[in-house]
Amino acid sequence: MCGIVGFTGRENALPILIKGLYSLEYRGYDSAGIAAFTKDGLRVVKTRGRIANLEEKIREEGDLYCNCGIGHTRWATHGEPSDRNSHPHLGGRDGKGKVAVVHNGIIENYKELRERLEAHGYVFQSETDTETVAHLVDYLHTGKQEDLAKTVLAAVQRIRGSYALGVVSMDNPEEIVAARRDNPLIIGVGEGENMIASDITAIIGRTRNYIILDDNEVAIVRPDSVVVMNEFGDVVEKNVQTVNWDMSAAEKGGYEHFMIKEIMEQPKAVADTVKPRIQNNAVVFEDNGLTDERLRDIENIHIVGCGSALHAGMVGKRVIEAMCRIRCTAEVASEFRYENPIIGKKDLCIVISQSGETADTLAAMRLAKQAGAFTVAIVNVVSSTIAREADGVLYTWAGPEISVATTKAYSAQLSALYLISVKIARTRGLISIGDERALCAELQRLPSCIEKALMCQEDMQRIATLYANRPSVFFLGRGLDYAAALEASLKLKEISYIHSEAYAAGELKHGTISLIEEGTLVVALATQPALFEKTVSNIREVVSRGAVVVLVTTDDFTGDESVCQHIIRLPKCLYEFSASLSIIPMQLLAYYVAVERNCDVDKPRNLAKSVTVE
Ligand code: GLU
Repeated sequence: MCGIVGFTGRENALPILIKGLYSLEYRGYDSAGIAAFTKDGLRVVKTRGRIANLEEKIREEGDLYCNCGIGHTRWATHGEPSDRNSHPHLGGRDGKGKVAVVHNGIIENYKELRERLEAHGYVFQSETDTETVAHLVDYLHTGKQEDLAKTVLAAVQRIRGSYALGVVSMDNPEEIVAARRDNPLIIGVGEGENMIASDITAIIGRTRNYIILDDNEVAIVRPDSVVVMNEFGDVVEKNVQTVNWDMSAAEKGGYEHFMIKEIMEQPKAVADTVKPRIQNNAVVFEDNGLTDERLRDIENIHIVGCGSALHAGMVGKRVIEAMCRIRCTAEVASEFRYENPIIGKKDLCIVISQSGETADTLAAMRLAKQAGAFTVAIVNVVSSTIAREADGVLYTWAGPEISVATTKAYSAQLSALYLISVKIARTRGLISIGDERALCAELQRLPSCIEKALMCQEDMQRIATLYANRPSVFFLGRGLDYAAALEASLKLKEISYIHSEAYAAGELKHGTISLIEEGTLVVALATQPALFEKTVSNIREVVSRGAVVVLVTTDDFTGDESVCQHIIRLPKCLYEFSASLSIIPMQLLAYYVAVERNCDVDKPRNLAKSVTVE
């Protein structure tokens, strides 16, 4: 969600900032801006809309050569997306100001701060919470000898809420001060130049080395040095880490969109997640803390996530309960954290987040940890906040996922959950060594099954063309197919803007069936043989009311298919793992419908990739 980039060095910072902003685009935003130290002083250019609009405005403004600057993409929380509300914000009584600030997050006590600053003569130019930080820094800085970093430290101590901040001041046009709490921020370490950024994609064009800023730390970033202080102002030693993937992983590589590239990368994402964890036909977890002793003792499992990660959790819940006979719930992170959940000391809490920065999931995890549960994070971004704070981590090795709508990270999350399930079942003696061997073989076969499932690409493209103009679509399924239907429906909604609903197939007639009329598109998922007949009956119910049905099922489907207009047959795999295959045609359907409707597939409106606010 939203992004920050900053550069200080010897080259012209402007193109570096713009490129950095473009690489952060995928996180989602509605406005963009930069602050740069030019020969005429601190200049700010900002606008509502896309980065291309910002570039145009910069061109109109004339020469903006600078060696140091900060840039921002905003995802509005306080105040509508507008030029005025865009960042950077200037701090100063006259509204011009010596200090410029970019911010990701939410300042919760901004009203109170704003009133107090207004009483001191500050006139606000925007409706944002962020502007309070700019004026507060100016207020604390003015007339004092203290350097900017110490001032920022004093300012953040008066702030409640979450922030990643980039601050620059006219007093030192080579320096960027960065600070964070509950919002990601890294420092890119170069030679004779350094950067700040929300994530690695914005720095990888210039350096592979980076430092992760921790909560409550403040950094002073200059061309030849990076100094990090803790909340007491003491200098702390930080590890410089190195990125282990290259630029091409974050490029389209000949595909029209990142989404279709990432859909096609799913066999590899699943193989990379599964392979290192299976040794000698058994699931082996090396260092995530899921020891046999702990697994034997688990009383309940809580899976927590948001959006697709929650849907992966809903599949995981069904697989774990069936295989391990442990009570397992899949819960919405933003609800879990406020409903006083019952968490026992022997409970396991599995949190799922692609970015590892999802604010609600992070808060839910902290709550579970505090209550004494053992927390394990299924996360894609290495060293993200959730990964660092969880008791154990199971990384999904899906590689960088750029499209806002997740595909390969979701598939990798499913396989991580299967691994956990097999491991628990074996540890608790619910399955034999032979069963475990068979399950591991199936897990290793999953990438090639996904490969085969992807062969329905052309069929899905054709079906998408036929139905792209439908105002509403229904997805039906039972059990695992219901969990997959929820994800299928979300994919379609997210990127094509068609309203859709996922329904437990047997539940439709308890109200929602009144929405089915002549020509309504219904996609039915039926991959569980024990439920084939039941689902077919539900299909008949909607067909009798005029629905057009696409059936997604397995090679061995035996039910009556004559009532369905289109049938997609998936290769056979273990039924427990079928959600990994049934989602493939659904992702392709959503993708091609969105393409057909000329939607911005990789950056759907209003959405953000990494949701760092509550
Ligand atoms: N809360 C701030 C605003 O609305 C920052 C939003 C963001 O993270 O982009 O301006």
